[in-house]
Amino acid sequence: MESPNSAVPQGNWPIERFVWDLTYACPLRCLHCFTESGRRPARMLGREDALRVTDVIAAARPQRISFGGGEPLLAPWWDEAARRLESAGVPVTVFTSGWLMDEGIAERLADSVTGAAVSVDGANADVHDVIRGRAGSFRKSMESLEHLNRIKQERRARGERCFRLGLEYTVTRSGWDGTERFVEEMTSRFPEIDYVSFGAVIPEGLAQEEKFASRELLSDEQLAALSDMEPRLASRARNGAHVSVTDARSFLPTSPLCAQGETIAHIEADGQFRASTNYEAKVGNVLEESLDVLWARALAWRNDPFVAEQRNSIRSLDDWARVTRLLDRRYGSEEDKARIARRGAAA
Ligand code: SF4
Repeated sequence: MESPNSAVPQGNWPIERFVWDLTYACPLRCLHCFTESGRRPARMLGREDALRVTDVIAAARPQRISFGGGEPLLAPWWDEAARRLESAGVPVTVFTSGWLMDEGIAERLADSVTGAAVSVDGANADVHDVIRGRAGSFRKSMESLEHLNRIKQERRARGERCFRLGLEYTVTRSGWDGTERFVEEMTSRFPEIDYVSFGAVIPEGLAQEEKFASRELLSDEQLAALSDMEPRLASRARNGAHVSVTDARSFLPTSPLCAQGETIAHIEADGQFRASTNYEAKVGNVLEESLDVLWARALAWRNDPFVAEQRNSIRSLDDWARVTRLLDRRYGSEEDKARIARRGAAA
C-alpha cells in the first residue's frame, strides 16, 4: 500500500500555495459548500488584522494565493490585501460566485488581481440554482461574466493589463449533463474567458455528508469518464480558451500525484491555520504564532499514525467522504463539532 506521505518529499518542504478564506459570509447556500458558508458566523477579520495576515503570507513567498470563502468580495479590504500581495510578487486569484458583481467591483478586480474566477455548477439555471441553493444565482453568474468580460475587453483595447478570466465548474451528478454545449455557449458569449476548468466535487464540508455523498459524488466510472471528456470539451471552445478537467483521482490522498495538495497552506477567516486543506483540524492562528511553527505542526498532524492510516485507506470519493466525516468529527474545534452536529437535513 502506498503511503500518501511517501509520495511527497519528507521534511519542511515549502508552501507553494495559500488558500485564504476571507470570510464565511455568503449570499448563496450551496448544497456542497466546502466551508458551510452562510450557515455559520462570518468570522471576518478587521482591516488591520487582515493586513497582518497578508504580510505573513507575503513573507512566505508562495507561488500564488487563492482568495475564497464564503464570498471573498464581502471583505471590505479584499482589494487592499490583494494589491499588497501582488506588489510583493504573489499572484492573487479571487474565486467568486458572482452574486455581488457590478461594474465597480469588476474594475477593482482589474486594478488588483492576476485572476478572477467565477464558479458555475450547472449548465443551465434549473440545475445551477438548485445546487447553489438560491434562485437567480445562474443569472447573477452570467451578469458577473458580462461585467468581467466587458472590463477586460476595454482594458485590452487600451493596452492595459487585466486579470485572467476563468470559469470554474464543480461537477456533481446533477450537473453532469450539458457540459459540452455549456463550453460552447460560454466561450461564444464571453470571448474574454481565458480558461474553463472542470473538477469533480470533493467530499469536504457539506459534500462529505452521507446524504449528499450518496446522491452527488461521482462514481469511479464517472471520474474516469470525466477525465476522458477533456478533449471533447476543449474542442467546443469557440475563443481559444484553455479547457481542462482536473482529475479528482489525483487528489485522492493515496495518489502519488497528490503531492501538490500537500504544499497548500490554508488559512481560515479568523486567521486559524488548517493542518490540511481538506480537513477541519486546526493547529493555531497566524496572528498569534509564526508560520514556521504552524507549518511544522501541520506536517506533524498529517504524519500522525492515526491520520496517516485513515488517509491511506482512501481509494475512492466514497472512501474519502467516510474518512473526512471521521477526521472532521475527531479533530474539528468544539465550534466545528457543534456546527457539524447541526447539519442534519442540510446535507
Ligand atoms: S460554495 Fe461558495 S458560493 Fe456556495 S455557499 Fe459555499 S462559499 Fe458560498
